[in-house]
Amino acid sequence: MEPSSEAVPPQAGTCRYPGCGSPARPRGGQSGARPRYCGNAVTEDRDGIPVTVVHDAMTAFRRRRELDGDTSSTGETRPVTAAITRAGAIRDDAVAAAGQLAAQLDIHAAAGHVRSDGHRAERPSPGDNL
Ligand SMILES: [Zn+2]
Repeated sequence: MEPSSEAVPPQAGTCRYPGCGSPARPRGGQSGARPRYCGNAVTEDRDGIPVTVVHDAMTAFRRRRELDGDTSSTGETRPVTAAITRAGAIRDDAVAAAGQLAAQLDIHAAAGHVRSDGHRAERPSPGDNL
């Protein structure tokens, strides 16, 4: 019958980011709501990947969702993983295309096909007709 201490509300003035015990930012002025997050950029270990997180309402919301369960977090991390994979593939394509372009330019330059006035490249120069 004891009250559940699953989620103990942090003390007032303490950052509410999960697992953070830093004091929240001081209030900017005499009025207005007191900040509930410290605003520190903290590097966390996420599956072996260091991730820098600035403690604010949005990052705390995301972190709580991640901690709540894998069912919601998998739906959230998959698009990011897919986007990273896609970005890597696009980058590889761009690098390959740049390499091919450089190779083609070298071939054309060696064959004399690339000139400042490309239209005359395959025509005899006017001096030949005289
Ligand atoms: Zn914090």
